[in-house]
Amino acid sequence: SDRPVSPAPQEADGADKALRPQSLDEFIGQAEARANLKVFIESARRRGEAMDHTLFFGPPGLGKTTLAQIMARELGVNFRMTSGPVLAKAGDLAAILTNLEARDVLFIDEIHRLNPAVEEVLYPALEDFELDLVIGEGPAARTVRIELQPFTLVGATTRLGLLTTPLRDRFGIPTRLQFYTVSELHEIVTRAARLLGAPASPDGAHEIAARARGTPRIAGRLLRRVVDFAIVEGDGTVTREIADRALTRLGVDSIGLDGADGRYLTLIAESYGGGPVGIETLSAALSEARDALEEVIEPYLLQQGLIQRTPRGRMLTQGAWRHLGLEAPRAPGQ
Ligand code: ADP
Repeated sequence: SDRPVSPAPQEADGADKALRPQSLDEFIGQAEARANLKVFIESARRRGEAMDHTLFFGPPGLGKTTLAQIMARELGVNFRMTSGPVLAKAGDLAAILTNLEARDVLFIDEIHRLNPAVEEVLYPALEDFELDLVIGEGPAARTVRIELQPFTLVGATTRLGLLTTPLRDRFGIPTRLQFYTVSELHEIVTRAARLLGAPASPDGAHEIAARARGTPRIAGRLLRRVVDFAIVEGDGTVTREIADRALTRLGVDSIGLDGADGRYLTLIAESYGGGPVGIETLSAALSEARDALEEVIEPYLLQQGLIQRTPRGRMLTQGAWRHLGLEAPRAPGQ
């Protein structure tokens, strides 16, 4: 989707490569993950060995790819990148693995979408740095074993629950990434605005940070739009007023909700008295795939405490009624 608040990558985001932090010290937020990675990277360097396989999981746009690139840079090795859906056949993976140099980082995005035949080939590669390839077909088929250079697999997934247990078990370093706090996003926006040549005032940076849904990718995207307004309608600095005007124009409200979130909340409020209402019902009424609701709309509404998941379905909280400016219906007897 091309919602300005979608956490998924969009074509136009490509321009922000220069904003990517290049080192762990430059990386803001994820303090716990960062502190642990620092130790594991330093230990691997001192031992001169490949770092353990690492799994990053958490919502899109929180820095999984960025951290994988930083790991390779700090380990002083090459970074190779692919993704689950791209590796259609075992041979595709074999071609990449056999080209790795010692201790390289191989990043596989969306690793929960690996084809089972490819995953099968990956297991011995991860455990023993060996590849068992079947050559030929029928009675002439035989297996050849290829020795690989020791390497580090960095997997990323937004859906930990969809990973098979054997694959999960092969990651020595599982790392959950969290939504960022407003003050962390404030720092990220301030740094990025400086790099974009449109410095942000503290309240300007705060305005963007508060509306970025805990997600650096969204913060970067909103900032670029605000910078456009700052240059054309302001004096080239990101002020609170310019940020508010630009984000309101983009349909992003004071806490980062847009029209799609609004429709979701309003539907539960107006058609279902605040719920509970089942996800399938919501999906049909909104003409949105259930997955899209569960992966894109709901995580942030849950994190903001605007909805609750109950065994009988989704319910609005008091906070949601307040945010919508509507009166919550009173339960009988209250
Ligand atoms: P993911 O792989 O989790 O979807 P990415 O690593 O691609 O996320 O990050 C999305 C965007 O957010 C990138 O432009 C990246 O530069 C930026 N970003 C992510 N984390 C940070 C951070 N901690 N500080 C600054 N920018 C960040």
